[in-house]
Amino acid sequence: VIGFGPVGARFVDELVPALEAGLVEVTVVGAEEGDPYNRVLVAEYAVGHTSLGAMSLGGSTAAVAAGARIITGATVTAISRSRRVVTVVRGDHSEGLHYDRLIFATGARANVPTLDGIVRVRRDHLAPSPEPATLDSPGGALPVGVTTLRDLADAERVLDAVRGARRIVVLGAGVLGMEIALAASSVGAQVCVVYHGGIPMARSLDRGSGTVLARAARRAGVTMVDHTRAESIVLRLDDDGTERFDALVCADGKQISGDLLLLSCGVGARVELARLAGLDVAAGILVDDGLTSWADSRICAIGDCAQIAPRPALGDSTAPPVGAPSGLIGPGWRQAEWLAARIMAELSDGVVVPAMARERPALVVVKAEGIDVVAAGDLSADPWDAESAHTDTGGDRPRHTDAGRHDDSCRLAATQVAEWADPEHGRYVKMVTRDGVLEAFVSVGMPRTGAELTLLYERGSELPADRSVLLRYDGPDYEPSFGGDGFALESTVCWCNGVTVESVVDAATSGDRTVACVSAATRAGTGCGGCRGRIADVIEWAGAIGS
Ligand SMILES: Cc1cc2nc3c(=O)[nH]c(=O)nc-3n(C[C@H](O)[C@H](O)[C@H](O)COP(=O)(O)OP(=O)(O)OC[C@H]3O[C@@H](n4cnc5c(N)ncnc54)[C@H](O)[C@@H]3O)c2cc1C
Repeated sequence: VIGFGPVGARFVDELVPALEAGLVEVTVVGAEEGDPYNRVLVAEYAVGHTSLGAMSLGGSTAAVAAGARIITGATVTAISRSRRVVTVVRGDHSEGLHYDRLIFATGARANVPTLDGIVRVRRDHLAPSPEPATLDSPGGALPVGVTTLRDLADAERVLDAVRGARRIVVLGAGVLGMEIALAASSVGAQVCVVYHGGIPMARSLDRGSGTVLARAARRAGVTMVDHTRAESIVLRLDDDGTERFDALVCADGKQISGDLLLLSCGVGARVELARLAGLDVAAGILVDDGLTSWADSRICAIGDCAQIAPRPALGDSTAPPVGAPSGLIGPGWRQAEWLAARIMAELSDGVVVPAMARERPALVVVKAEGIDVVAAGDLSADPWDAESAHTDTGGDRPRHTDAGRHDDSCRLAATQVAEWADPEHGRYVKMVTRDGVLEAFVSVGMPRTGAELTLLYERGSELPADRSVLLRYDGPDYEPSFGGDGFALESTVCWCNGVTVESVVDAATSGDRTVACVSAATRAGTGCGGCRGRIADVIEWAGAIGS
């Protein structure tokens, strides 16, 4: 197994029964030192909201006890597929390890944008650095005072700035950029977010929700600099002779000074090693729906490095596959569990593993205290689109002769958009339905409405004809007896681990009624942790109904 991040670690844990039965021998090579940790919590660690202990994923103790060999602080630098040998480098020592199966769990790295003053790393020619600390940037370390936010070393740099209440410039207003900006500002850092376009999180939000989020961030003390393209950085020479970040220079001539520049410009799958080994890669390592490499049936990929796409038929020279790895921990963990089950089934005669379940389109949730944002699906439809489609196709007007246009207006006619905005109080909701079923939504500043819409979206339920009913979940006259689907047994409580209300109820009724015990029994709440409040609600509800 190459990579000992959260997904590689879950895969090894799931193989424990096979290790104990002597069916497999497992070796894991991880570039980071120490036990694997929950990377989702890195931003919380960076602002002092969580500890290393709380982030630990347990070090795969059971796997080690069952005989797994775990080599940390080491890098796989090359693969010979003809000899089935990987080269592992640890310090001055290099060894070749033979494999029957090779699992890529190499994850992703934070993108470093092209800015004058920052050394550009040519990914297409890159081989992994034998030095774990510079895995992604051989010869091109970032200047002092410039960081990404992906691992613990990055988080330490941010924590240092936060503790010193220093000025942090965040470049990029995606979900991670917004989360770290809000969290750092809440603990006293002076934060400025610089981004293209008019709204933050432009890929996931529409104008209304993005505008409300930007206002909420400003109210929380974050300076939001929109419509701005960064071009270069200026370094200053400190008294001790160190060159460090001084200011970000923008295309319109603005200079934004700070003590730390935090680059939050998305992530890219680590595919270089796979590419060098002759495997097919696009945005990620290309695998079929059995997680097996297109090019080599002995090689699989899981987690942030894996891109699932149908293998083209022989001789079919179609365009490169669209899509990308999900970049989320839940799908990665499910892939790890499924692949381990598949391998164990192959080793135990007669056991058949059902095909891996298709992932639902992901929800986007901003983890920030006091600012509730949840969004899903394509929000680009406008409330009046459907109206104009009706007008175009109806009445005495000539009907479209172009079949494509006609289909499009039929689709729009079936799509309805309800929107409610209260910028003064930082609230906004939009619901896009098709034949009454929720296709996309966003909710800002309306936590209960957001939770209810999430459940309706997840279950593909029809919305009530009077959409305003949903807004009342956050109204002053809210009564828990409104009902809703929140406690339906098949509803998901923990999205990262796919845990349902039913599993939480079972755990709560057969053990201690605390969130910690339910988490230990079901894994609910051990990913992003955003569902811990809901786990507590379900435990309380299970107690009240006497299950
Ligand atoms: C700040 C932050 C917040 C996030 N928030 C969320 C969230 O709220 N919800 C969510 O679902 N996801 C979130 N994510 C994403 C989530 O962390 C990832 O989806 C998850 O970490 C993927 O796990 P992985 O094991 O596939 O890859 P990674 O976590 O990237 O781990 C890969 C490991 O492989 C090692 N490796 C790579 N190449 C080699 C090599 N050649 N030799 C040896 N070792 C190698 C790396 O050092 C690394 O340890 C967040 C991520 C960050 C950084």
